[in-house]
Amino acid sequence: MRPSDLLQPRPQGLYCPPGDFYIDPVKPVARALITHGHADHARAGHGAVMATRETLEIMAIRYGADFTGSRQEATLGERVSVNGVEVSFHPAGHVLGSAQIRVAHGGRCIVASGDYKRRRDPTCQGFEPVACDVFITEATFGLPVFRHPDDAGEIARLLASLEQFPERTHLVGAYSLGKAQRVIRLLREAGYDETIHIHGALQKLCDYFESEGIALGPLSPATIGNGGKSAFAGKIVVGPPSAFADRWARRFSDPVSAFASGWMRIRQRAKQRGVELPLILSDHSDWDELVATIADTGASEVWVTHGREEALVRWCEINGIAARPLHLVGYEDEGD
Ligand SMILES: [Zn+2]
Repeated sequence: MRPSDLLQPRPQGLYCPPGDFYIDPVKPVARALITHGHADHARAGHGAVMATRETLEIMAIRYGADFTGSRQEATLGERVSVNGVEVSFHPAGHVLGSAQIRVAHGGRCIVASGDYKRRRDPTCQGFEPVACDVFITEATFGLPVFRHPDDAGEIARLLASLEQFPERTHLVGAYSLGKAQRVIRLLREAGYDETIHIHGALQKLCDYFESEGIALGPLSPATIGNGGKSAFAGKIVVGPPSAFADRWARRFSDPVSAFASGWMRIRQRAKQRGVELPLILSDHSDWDELVATIADTGASEVWVTHGREEALVRWCEINGIAARPLHLVGYEDEGD
């Protein structure tokens, strides 16, 4: 059996013919295996969904309890048969509940990693390399120019700005699943114990992370009460990046606009978005993490998907690893 007989790109997503299932399909299908809860990977309307307990719960929070016809919980590391194909889920270190999916059949083994990062994240389980013949990697930051700095240093820059501008509200744009909770948790680890104000779109997911044992400290809705605008002077407000682009943000006086994203490495992107304080915090692997992970899996072949595919394919070829881009469409990650 050739690897492409086991998994192959289709318009709906990555398809496994012998198992008759898709991984992270972008359109409704009969059976989906889902790596994590970000909207571009986890969509509502499938006939059946298999995912980790956390990912199933996150999908229910985001889409409602009827997001799928039936659901099957995957236990990390446990091998189960899906129509005769051996399937197992392994931690990906991307966001709470995120997993790589290992698919083995006919003597072949492929790992579809979804999105992943290698550095420590206090809000989710760390990535575990899984040996395989073919490793499918993302390439969101697949260029050597992308080297993410240390998280603690970025959080320290936020706290330094807060000290420097004690009257200004610090608005931190962070994606609502994963990044927002990670920023809050990193602030707590840095010793910041003041109330952090959150946009309403974050409430349910922050509550969920708390219920999973991830302590986020005192949080309060960022709604203007009797105190008016001055109530948020010198405070940190966390919200989804889209919220800071609209009228919602105008309620705060003289705000410092910050944005936590791997893209903040690119000065031009920060400028375009009017970001005064770019925080380089990514839930994706940087270049060094990508190439180290490819080596760790021992894969003799690499398929590259969503992102800067060409540079990573070239790196593999130079290093004697067969590689090709998959050209899957529909993955504009909400959690970069
Ligand atoms: Zn993601």
